[in-house]
Amino acid sequence: MSDLILTWLVHQAGILAAHLVQIAVNTARALLTIVLLFIPIWYFERRQGSDTSRYGRRSFAHDLAYTLFYDTGVFRVLGASLIWGAVQDQLGFMRIGLLGDLPILVVGVLYVLITDVIGYWSHRAEHSIPFLWQFHSVHHAPEEINFLTSARVHPLPRLMWGTIDVILLILLGVPPTMWFPLMLVQSFLIAVQHADLDWSYGRFYPILVSPVFHRMHHSTDRRDFDTNYSNKLFGIWDYLFGTANPSRTRPIALGVEGQPPEPTLMGQFWGPFRRIARSGIVPELPASSATPHQDDPQDRSLVARS
Ligand SMILES: [Zn+2]
Ligand SMILES: [Zn+2]
Repeated sequence: MSDLILTWLVHQAGILAAHLVQIAVNTARALLTIVLLFIPIWYFERRQGSDTSRYGRRSFAHDLAYTLFYDTGVFRVLGASLIWGAVQDQLGFMRIGLLGDLPILVVGVLYVLITDVIGYWSHRAEHSIPFLWQFHSVHHAPEEINFLTSARVHPLPRLMWGTIDVILLILLGVPPTMWFPLMLVQSFLIAVQHADLDWSYGRFYPILVSPVFHRMHHSTDRRDFDTNYSNKLFGIWDYLFGTANPSRTRPIALGVEGQPPEPTLMGQFWGPFRRIARSGIVPELPASSATPHQDDPQDRSLVARS
């Protein structure tokens, strides 16, 4: 009996050690990626005259913590892997490889387009369904953003959208070697979206999500933060579905009016649950700050909003 317990303990210790090694490797890789992103972004921000002192403030430290939490595998070890693994096991019958027989390049393009448009609609749902907004507002709360703010996502929606990605992968049958490099390109472009850079990508503005395009989405004014939902690679979805913001100016302020960022990470985790408990199953969405069209010299009206 004691031999059995000892074997079990050794086995468990082996699993734990393997996880720790994996986390150490991932941490080194994540830190290297952060440094490689930071150097050029910091250089261009300085050249533009941007205030880089925000890298010394708490908001940046929080974003760094979110990045490491998700990118080192801690989030997976804490449960996400179990759930995603179970989804893969249970939905094995859906492994129909919809894109299986197509040329690799076509598979890549279709995969990017499909995940991109799903990203648009999931993000739009986070703004129009009050329950989801409570969790998504964690991403919108900071009054200043930086290239790591893309990681500031509450674990619940991260788990939810991650599960949809797993299902998508099962359905489409895209080999991992195919989507990994594409995800790297996406990660870089998403990092730049949150940098304090006035890049709009010129005539590609309506096609690629730029820092100017996404910064408007972080405005405190609801007329603006309910626009420009595209948040992966392509901005075309906002133009197709009538939510593109015609203005390319800087928003007056960033954040969520009346909801300053929680000062601690635990506060950010429990905040959405507290707000939902306080206001019932259907919490309030923030109200629009003003009536569009009339008082706005730059006509920042929306093309349409449903
Ligand atoms: Zn949003
Ligand atoms: Zn954002």
